[in-house]
Amino acid sequence: MDDCLFCKIANKKIPAKIEYEDEEILGFHDIDPQAPVHLIFIPKKHIVSLDQVQISDTNLIGKLLFQMAETARKLKISEAGYRVVNNIGTDGGQTVFHIHFHLLAGRKLKWPPG
Ligand code: AMP
Ligand code: ZN
Repeated sequence: MDDCLFCKIANKKIPAKIEYEDEEILGFHDIDPQAPVHLIFIPKKHIVSLDQVQISDTNLIGKLLFQMAETARKLKISEAGYRVVNNIGTDGGQTVFHIHFHLLAGRKLKWPPG
């Protein structure tokens, strides 16, 4: 997708501070962090949101979630805990329409979210 911000990051047309990368998945630091650790994980494949995930994508999304947990262990935030967030659509708070999962950590997070 030519005009998709996260496709541009996946294709290295826009820089990001990368924390995890493999052939299919990218994890990078959010430009406007909401916690001491705030990473964004995306599949390199353009999928608009969880609402658009097909059964053939489930292996990819499962691997992405596993790599988020692996990264949390690598950064030594697993024991204290962290939060994974996926916003879907306008009411869900989604502003970038390429599926992504936030990893937030490093402070006590409030619940429920606003
Ligand atoms: P969402 O509101 O769930 O769609 O999340 C989009 C996230 O992308 C926000 O937390 C933004 O701060 C983040 N973001 C926007 N532009 C960039 C960028 N160029 N690099 C890294 N993160 C970004
Ligand atoms: Zn995209």
